[in-house]
Amino acid sequence: MKVLKFGGTSVGSAQRIKNVAALVRDGEQKIVVLSAMSGTTNSLVEISKALYNNDEKAAAEVISNLYQKYVIVVDELYSNDQSKQKGHLLITNHFNYLKSFKAADFSVADEKAILAQGELISTALMHYYLEEQGVKSALLPALNYMVIDEDGEPILSNIEIAIKTEMEKLAADTELFITQGFICRNPKGEIDNLQRGGSDYSASLVGAAILASEIQIWTDIDGMHNNDPRIVENTKPIANLSFDEAAELAYFGAKILHPTSVLPAKLRQIPVRLLNTLDPEAYGTCISTQTERNKIKAVAAKDGITAIKIKSGRMLLAYGFLRKVFEIFEQHKTPIDMVTTSEVGVSLTIDNNKNLDKILEQLNDYGTVTVDTDQVIVCVVGDFSIENTGFVHNITHALADIPVRMISYGGSMYNISVVINAKDKVKALNVLSAQLFE
Ligand code: ADP
Ligand code: ASP
Ligand code: MG
Repeated sequence: MKVLKFGGTSVGSAQRIKNVAALVRDGEQKIVVLSAMSGTTNSLVEISKALYNNDEKAAAEVISNLYQKYVIVVDELYSNDQSKQKGHLLITNHFNYLKSFKAADFSVADEKAILAQGELISTALMHYYLEEQGVKSALLPALNYMVIDEDGEPILSNIEIAIKTEMEKLAADTELFITQGFICRNPKGEIDNLQRGGSDYSASLVGAAILASEIQIWTDIDGMHNNDPRIVENTKPIANLSFDEAAELAYFGAKILHPTSVLPAKLRQIPVRLLNTLDPEAYGTCISTQTERNKIKAVAAKDGITAIKIKSGRMLLAYGFLRKVFEIFEQHKTPIDMVTTSEVGVSLTIDNNKNLDKILEQLNDYGTVTVDTDQVIVCVVGDFSIENTGFVHNITHALADIPVRMISYGGSMYNISVVINAKDKVKALNVLSAQLFE
């Protein structure tokens, strides 16, 4: 069975929902994972922020504007009165729920419950539409099978068992199982989520859990491009990527894929296709164990990076220094992205500054610490096997006029990463494309 995920833009209007329905109803049984309609999760975040800020009026205004949009969607989506009524009842119920939250004692759990409404609504709208069209569709409730542990990590073994149980509860002749991306339950049994953009991760986890024959991520572009299309002109789709190459690109900023979404598919060796709802015939990108060798494939950039340097005479000939430094980051649950070392110091980068002050306080015991904020990691992905001479030169040559804070090469065979100032990002991505792909 295949798993097909459609992102926010792909279900962003009544017409787009109809287009997706036409794409998926080919008589073959499949699981369809949906995001919230585009813009919805952002509005739900705004509602929560307003409630945290004690501004119930602002929250009510966002709720009312969002509701108006859904009224139009329901009116346009369904053709018969019975379906229209069901659609209106659905949105009335969800929006009454949103209106029930008060600023007093507004909690993280409340916020998560609010954020889940977008996917709950989009999946129900799609299911009712398919039913109206006479398709054997069923809702597969993600909140009954998608579970995470205390650290927010999905528990694949539990998901595997629970999703099978949920599917068995539904009619045996179900053609389309419609399920929510993004949302899940935490160990307390509360509604939670897989972080922004997490519907890709949901699709990959569902695919891995049911041992799907293929996972398809349908979005608004024809596959993974060789650079960020929002920043560089004339980027091109990459036909084939290995799981490792795709994981590096997703982790280092290619927004088309959620950073962790490749891993579950890789674990079970399930091919992932990136496809375009606006151009369904386009080949897109196939992520699998097959890839072209001896090529530089793509460039991506990850924003919001902080680079930290610890300089210490004590590192000279000492053992255990790096462990002590890394332990400080571990204590504060702060992942390190990149590391470079020299005889007298170590530089590393983080993308989560939440505990930076505490980390710096402890690092000061180990040497002189300098911090650079507003940095960006630019990551070049391809086949960097050592016999492919000249690749490193091409990259550093392209970056000749850009101040480079750190370089990392050799961590894997697939990437070279550099840290630069955020203000140089646009220039760096453009000169790299010109040098590497033109
Ligand atoms: P969805 O809502 O379907 O999940 P996203 O907005 O999360 O879609 O991801 C698709 C967008 O990712 C594209 O519209 C594109 O602007 C952006 N993007 C950034 N980097 C890349 C890249 N390297 N290749 C393709 N798209 C990219
Ligand atoms: N709706 C969620 C978001 O906007 C999840 C997703 O679209 O992947 O982040
Ligand atoms: Mg996305």
